[in-house]
Amino acid sequence: MPSMLDAVVVGAGPNGLTAAVELARRGFSVALFEAKGTVGGGARTEELTLPGFRHDPCSAAHPLAVSSPAFRGLPLERYGLQWLHPELPMAHPFPDGTAAVLSRSVGETAASFGPRDAGTYRRLVTPFLHRWDTLVRDFMSLPLTALPRDPVTLARFGVVGLPPSTWLARRFRDERARTLFAGLVAHVMAPLSGFATSAIGLVFALAAHTRGWPVARGGSQAISDALAAYLRELGGAVHTDYEVKRLDDLPPARAYVFDTSPTALARIAGFGDTYARYRYGPGVFKIDYALDGPVPWTAPEARRAGTVQIGADSAEIGAALRAASRENRAPDAPFLITVQPSVVDPTRAPDGKHVFWAYGHVPHGWDGDLTEAIERQLERFAPGFRDRVLARATAGPPELAARNANYIGGDIATGAVSGLQTLLRPKLSLFPYATPHPAVFICSQATPPGPGVHGMPGHNAAKAVWRRLRQT
Ligand SMILES: Cc1cc2nc3c(=O)[nH]c(=O)nc-3n(C[C@H](O)[C@H](O)[C@H](O)COP(=O)(O)OP(=O)(O)OC[C@H]3O[C@@H](n4cnc5c(N)ncnc54)[C@H](O)[C@@H]3O)c2cc1C
Repeated sequence: MPSMLDAVVVGAGPNGLTAAVELARRGFSVALFEAKGTVGGGARTEELTLPGFRHDPCSAAHPLAVSSPAFRGLPLERYGLQWLHPELPMAHPFPDGTAAVLSRSVGETAASFGPRDAGTYRRLVTPFLHRWDTLVRDFMSLPLTALPRDPVTLARFGVVGLPPSTWLARRFRDERARTLFAGLVAHVMAPLSGFATSAIGLVFALAAHTRGWPVARGGSQAISDALAAYLRELGGAVHTDYEVKRLDDLPPARAYVFDTSPTALARIAGFGDTYARYRYGPGVFKIDYALDGPVPWTAPEARRAGTVQIGADSAEIGAALRAASRENRAPDAPFLITVQPSVVDPTRAPDGKHVFWAYGHVPHGWDGDLTEAIERQLERFAPGFRDRVLARATAGPPELAARNANYIGGDIATGAVSGLQTLLRPKLSLFPYATPHPAVFICSQATPPGPGVHGMPGHNAAKAVWRRLRQT
């Protein structure tokens, strides 16, 4: 290691890894320090239940990663990353045995909403479809890390996306499209009536039609391993089992980049109450299953999909989100996001067997057990599900926080996605990656454009870091 590094990165989640890679690619010397025994943070894979069953304890479906300008600019396939696309990106089954879907085809998607809403849906998505790559780059680079390439489409997207999703839902006449959109918004745990929640739903829908919702062959760990392998080839050093508690724990460097929560950063760097107003959101309760066969969904579409949303209608989804975020209680009928990677990736489980995960929202820090309520929901849409369970690994907020210090109170978005904090995080600032110390930066999902495996906070923060490195 040189006596003075250019940059030290703390935390090897997708954002820390991306920031480190971006700096190393530009010729800077970089070392990365990760508290856990392996790299990956929220993009990792482990045998959590039985031998031969490869589970993703956190992220599994990757519409944001495959669309991400940060990842698309890196040669990750050369380091083993392979995207596998299920026949349908997503299905949302209903109690009557039918399902709405997000398909690669706009036509199939629109048809699944029923004749009264098909045209509305086409009109909603069509203006953005052929401009997706530019649009996603433009809004994921905000604020101010790059000038928009297509400001007109970005402004048009803002007009549709900035209002609450409950406004967007009013365009639809029937419950099928409303329910599917409510579920999409719930992926980032935002209240349905929140600022910019229409944009969240639209981003997931547009991603399905343009780049898909793939899983990574072998598990989400493949994304992190590819980033780490590329970093090493660029000369970067990766240190695991190294929890950083104080700045003094780190070697001398010209810049420090933190893929941590703002709270942890303030503690480590002695920033006092800089981020005291930053709010954390509800937690999740997650179950990883080893199954004897595929999930016996009643709706045939759900058997073909990588991701399946569970919520009978938009009212039930709204009530589940309110219970966890405002009423401080576990929902009776939790809204579930479920992913079944082995429908498309045979490497995840022994022959004929499957891995499957489901999570529902619970209050911040909740320490109860949601297993019964989750399985009751699954049985409504997949009768006989419980008979297929060989083993399960459960994790509520305390276990999630123990697995990853960034998941404070089980908040897997490292900060509430509500109000202005949806876009302006971790504080109201035109330079969100900067901190009170000019050599210290933050790059986690607590910065724009927020949660998900896409590396864009890391990519954007790296730009701020290299500007400083070139000036000093
Ligand atoms: C159950 C669950 C399901 C999810 N599903 C999806 C999904 O399907 N698709 C999707 O796109 N996203 C999903 N996500 C969200 C996704 O995982 C996160 O948005 C993403 O991982 C955030 O990346 P990050 O780099 O900001 O932080 P993280 O991935 O949280 O990484 C932070 C890293 O920093 C390390 N660290 C923290 N403090 C220190 C310290 N003091 N010293 C050293 N190291 C430290 C941590 O150990 C961790 O490795 C899911 C998350 C969870 C938990």
